[in-house]
Amino acid sequence: MSLVERDLKVIWHPYTQMQTAQAPVPIVRGEGACLFDESGKKYIDAVSSWWVNIHGHAHPYIAQKVAEQLQKLEHVIFAGFTHEGAVELAERLLKLLPGNQQKVFYSDNGSTANEVAIKMCLQYWHNSGEARTKILAFKNAYHGDTFGAMAVSGRSAFTAAFDSLLFEVEFIDLPTEENIQSLKSQISSLKSELACFIFEPLVQGAGGMIMYEAKYLNELMKHCREENVLMIDDEVFTGFGRTGKNFACDHLTEQPDIMCFSKGLTGGTMALGVTTCSTQIYDAFLSDDRLKTLFHGHSFTANPVACAAALASMDLFIEPSTRQNIERIEQMHTLFLQKIKNHSKIKTVRQTGTILAMEWETGNDTSYFSSLRDTLYNYFLRAGIILRPLGNIVYILPPYCITNDELAYIYSHVERALDEI
Ligand SMILES: *Cc1c(COP(=O)(O)O)cnc(C)c1O
Repeated sequence: MSLVERDLKVIWHPYTQMQTAQAPVPIVRGEGACLFDESGKKYIDAVSSWWVNIHGHAHPYIAQKVAEQLQKLEHVIFAGFTHEGAVELAERLLKLLPGNQQKVFYSDNGSTANEVAIKMCLQYWHNSGEARTKILAFKNAYHGDTFGAMAVSGRSAFTAAFDSLLFEVEFIDLPTEENIQSLKSQISSLKSELACFIFEPLVQGAGGMIMYEAKYLNELMKHCREENVLMIDDEVFTGFGRTGKNFACDHLTEQPDIMCFSKGLTGGTMALGVTTCSTQIYDAFLSDDRLKTLFHGHSFTANPVACAAALASMDLFIEPSTRQNIERIEQMHTLFLQKIKNHSKIKTVRQTGTILAMEWETGNDTSYFSSLRDTLYNYFLRAGIILRPLGNIVYILPPYCITNDELAYIYSHVERALDEI
């Protein structure tokens, strides 16, 4: 039996309608920005394998550091015990973040990083004896697939089966010059009930690579600060260079109370989540009263192998060549954007840092499930490019090590698709 046949017998894939989905592609190895299937066919990973990979696949330096860690310590319970990797990673990560971020709480992925953040905020008010339980979020947001993270995400086809069980959230529009004043008054009118405001900074990823200006987010954050509403900056997607700076918050002057990381954290090697917070948050849990403890943890909290991968990824991330690569991709994207922005089949095209998103004309079928999406996905796959459109939004966000030739190959096939489909 082939790998694909065996897969179809036993595997249930994520975000996949198993009855109608085409067979999965059996990948056997990766190198740089590319993946290779059983038959040796090469695919350029233009979506960084669901946005996690930043330094390329099977990076030898990360592999070496992970292998060394595995021979020393694979795991240890993180309540009552600690280890070098977790401490060093926390020290080094905090140095890269806004000055008010002082403590690190580990978990396993982006959704759990957000769950922890939400629980920190809710319990912050609980511990302080104030009844604030409402959460503010953006319409169309995506913060993950577990229940709390799903609740603060926009309601959609993905959440429909669970909507009646999701806690109530105040959803507001993305800030613009036109609506910023009315958003501020909305926040002011709710402030005594609001536990926190959670947001994806600058780019709403899963919502369709929707981009908005740092300036207005900054203004909104300033207002939240004045109104004493805690802020959760979900950098699970935007962290580690995606937006052109180290973190999206580096485009802002206001500082969030809490930040969440995952995807790029280990370079896309291991599952790891991080929630960081200010001393103000942390101190609200310090007490002789045991009930004020943050009762949250996962079996694999701060797994040493994942921490080793994150430390190795950070070594690579802070190398000047990585910064140069990010700038190179930004420039290449901008040139391509200029070239295709007036194409008759392109509705809009937008860019933030290494993220380029193109909205295709579809006539009237614009849903995530549009047939254009499948047509495009297969078109690019045949050409050896992994692009996974969100409905009619085709986006390119490659590992930073992608070569100019590989980028040019992707662009030329986007142009071809524009002419042929
Ligand atoms: C992907 C994503 C998450 C969820 O992360 P998982 O690791 O998939 O659970 C949360 N927030 C944002 C902004 C994301 O893009």
